[in-house]
Amino acid sequence: MKKLALKELESLFAAIAAQQTLYLPQDDAAGQAQFAAWKEGAARSRRLNTARSAKDLFFPQVENLAGFKREGKSIEIFETREDVRPFTVFGVRACDARSFEILDKVFLKAPVDTFYASRREMGTVITLACTKPDETCFCRSFGIDPANPAGDVSCWMDEETLYWQANTAKGETLTSELPMLEDGGEEAVKAQQEKLHVILEKLPLAQLDLSKVGAGETEALFNRPEWKSLSESCLGCGTCTFVCPTCQCYDVQEFNTGKTVRRFRCWDSCMYSDFTKMSAGQPRPTQLERFRQRFMHKLVYFPDNNDGQFGCVGCGRCLQKCPIHMNIVKVIKTMGGGDDAK
Ligand code: SF4
Ligand code: SF4
Repeated sequence: MKKLALKELESLFAAIAAQQTLYLPQDDAAGQAQFAAWKEGAARSRRLNTARSAKDLFFPQVENLAGFKREGKSIEIFETREDVRPFTVFGVRACDARSFEILDKVFLKAPVDTFYASRREMGTVITLACTKPDETCFCRSFGIDPANPAGDVSCWMDEETLYWQANTAKGETLTSELPMLEDGGEEAVKAQQEKLHVILEKLPLAQLDLSKVGAGETEALFNRPEWKSLSESCLGCGTCTFVCPTCQCYDVQEFNTGKTVRRFRCWDSCMYSDFTKMSAGQPRPTQLERFRQRFMHKLVYFPDNNDGQFGCVGCGRCLQKCPIHMNIVKVIKTMGGGDDAK
């Protein structure tokens, strides 16, 4: 393990940024934390987590796929793929670090999504352990330890010191290029982890019961009458999907400039009425069906196809952002038979 006095943090960021783009959480004009490229003097956000996750850096909201140009009867296909350079993202929380495991299962399975794969190859993820989790956090329900986050490098921070532990070859390489890091810090990290574990036990969602959802529960859950009351006030706005670190649906669109056609992909949402609409019609014509799809996918279908792993990491963003206060926890509690779906 390595450590660094916090007053030297700027020099660490400068050393990383001298070699590659460094992203870290910074407060935007609306006061929300977002991952943004670090520049000298930029202040790191003190908020627990970013409004949108680090997923955006690996799977951008809009991405060019290819271009087409027609000359007479021939069509030329040209490359529009962005040149992906090495980059580092600092300050990813444990929940969002787990989301990469889920996204990898979707995008890196054959046929590999080469756009995502190139960013995963070029990106180094530095995580930061939590010290003050929010009451909307429930990552522990999915076996995530926010006191011991994954990533190429794991970091912990107290009032005076940054602690740093490389976990992968990428993390080791980066560490070897940062001579300001000194050995030590194990005891302080252990003490911080123990303190956080006590706090986690007291969070309102610490005892969330997942026993009624998960792999193999399709038959038990699909026709439950509660989907009606759960879904009837859903606005179909898609906010929950856009802030979610594990949502990965996208649409492919084309933009005709008159001279060329640009094919791009952009995030889509299973909550939208035209999602996966085909010439034969809309496979999920009602909001109830669309709403059910979103939650069944995360809580049953994804675990069915991925050795029981849930498609949610308990980051709590959908709990904070849904305009009608609907969220995955309410669904889990309702389907668990409890009457405390708050
Ligand atoms: S469903 Fe909600 S809590 Fe779960 S990962 Fe997505 S935004 Fe986070
Ligand atoms: S559950 Fe909430 S955030 Fe998601 S689409 Fe419905 S209203 Fe929007």
